[in-house]
Order: sequence, then C-alpha cells, then structure tokens
Amino acid sequence: MTGRAAVFLDRDGVLVEDTGALVHADDVRVLPGVIEALVSLREHGLALVVVSNQTVVARGLAGEDDVIAVQLAIESRLVAAGAPAFDDFLFCPHHPSATDPAYRVACDCRKPAPGLILRACARHGIDPRRSVMVGDRPSDLAAGAQAGCRTVWVQTGRHADAPIETTSPFATPTADHVCDGLCAAARWITGRAA
Ligand SMILES: [Mg+2]
Ligand SMILES: [Zn+2]
Repeated sequence: MTGRAAVFLDRDGVLVEDTGALVHADDVRVLPGVIEALVSLREHGLALVVVSNQTVVARGLAGEDDVIAVQLAIESRLVAAGAPAFDDFLFCPHHPSATDPAYRVACDCRKPAPGLILRACARHGIDPRRSVMVGDRPSDLAAGAQAGCRTVWVQTGRHADAPIETTSPFATPTADHVCDGLCAAARWITGRAA
C-alpha cells in the first residue's frame, strides 16, 4: 500500500513574509511566485499541507483562533489569485519558555520535532518518504528529515538567523535542494516526481 505524496510547507518565510509576529490578516504579504508554485504542485497531484510553529500563541500575542483566522486570510487570498486550497494546516502553539504556562511544554510538534508532519501523514494517508518539506529555517529541514521526507531549503526568510530555541539541540541536516524561493522549489520537486 502506498500513501499519497505531499509537499509540507512552512508558512512564514515560505508562503508569506516572515514579519516576526504575524497576527493580523492585514499584515499578510504573499511572497513572489507562490501562486504559480502551488498551482504546479497541485497539477502534479501533490497534497499541500502547511506546518507552522506559531510561538505567537505561547508568547501571548494571539490566540489559537487568531492563528487560524490568519491562515484562512492567507488561503482566501491565494485562492482568489488562482492557487489551489491547502489540504490541511497544522501548527504548534507551544514553546519551551512560553509566557502562558498552558503552552510551556516540551511537545513533539514544535519543529525541529516531526510531530506536525507525522500527524498530517496519519490524518491524510500521506507517505513521508514520497514527500518533501519546504522551509526557510534549519528547524524546518530537521523536522522534514526526521519524518523521512526529502527537504528543500528556500532562502526567502530567516534562513540566516540563529537556530530557534528548543528543548534539545539539533543538528542541521543537509538539505536535498537549496533554492531562492517556492517557485524554484516546485520546479525541483515536480522535476523529480516519478
Ligand atoms: Mg519560516
Ligand atoms: Zn507543539
């Protein structure tokens, strides 16, 4: 039995500008080439799943409802411009030093942990070994590699930042492909798709 192939997409710095704390729909800035890339990936039959660390929740800057509202705003803007809808959106609201104790947990879903990807695979019958994780931070690559996906590192966001805070240090895996944005990532992914 073979599962579906998917592309797991980080949100901030891959689909939209990483503003540090995106909590209002008005601040959404879609990055260049994203629409065309999503269209192409869907045309190749790939599931499209957004997986995002949302520390804005742990930092008390927004509620989980706000995160979902921003995601809906992003998706409706993309769809209005001709992009396909996403198959799912999963996010981690936790942080090891969250201001809200309810979110101060060593979870299995904050990237570099692979929990969000693995949860999406179970939910949608996705085979991680046929799938690709696209992200701008080393933690995205680590999450994808740990889940068994190939990885693409896009140089559109926080790729040069210091590693994010985690409960356990992680080694940055070598990306299977490095490129300057989602359009180039989609070309590499679809070119390799069997
Ligand atoms: Mg990012
Ligand atoms: Zn989490």
